[in-house]
Amino acid sequence: MRIGVLAVQGAFAEHIAVLRKLEAEALPVRLPLELISLDGLIIPGGESTVISRLIRDYDLSDQIKKLAASGLPILGTCAGLIILAKELSDSKMQTLGLMDLVVRRNAFGRQRESFEAELSIPALGEKPFPGVFIRAPRIEQANGNVAVLTRLNDGTIVAARQEKLIATAFHPELTDDLRLHKYFVDIVSNSKPSPGG
Ligand code: GLN
Repeated sequence: MRIGVLAVQGAFAEHIAVLRKLEAEALPVRLPLELISLDGLIIPGGESTVISRLIRDYDLSDQIKKLAASGLPILGTCAGLIILAKELSDSKMQTLGLMDLVVRRNAFGRQRESFEAELSIPALGEKPFPGVFIRAPRIEQANGNVAVLTRLNDGTIVAARQEKLIATAFHPELTDDLRLHKYFVDIVSNSKPSPGG
């Protein structure tokens, strides 16, 4: 199983380290060629305006969209969530538009720029997941066939799934809890054609 981590800007090294802990093959991706023969892709946190620009400058946009349309599992965290969203409520920045979400950038204001919250994520089991939020976006609307994976206590949606696409407003790669990545790796391994089949 080969999982690429978009490595144009942001917290890609941390995702690669977590994937390796899970014994998945993890590769940094910067060129369109490096997207070929991946079984999954992670779009990390960072600065979404920069990531968005570099995705276009490096000619990665069309290829990622094509792969997503053919069923490539993708995980986007924080800025990665913004990049996956179809619509931004406060920005004209170009996104990949792959998930039927309306997202607001930097949605928690100055006082709560960074915070941690224990999240109940039923898909990961009973134990709360440590949510690390850094200048995080929030999901204002989850439309179509998007399933909400978790909310903050006040009801704010902070993770969602649309078929094989997962997006989180928080940073699972900055904790020791591997369950969110394991959840993604399982989606990748279940969608990989079985050998000989
Ligand atoms: N605030 C950043 C943005 O809008 C996202 C922050 C993050 O990825 N930690 O791109």
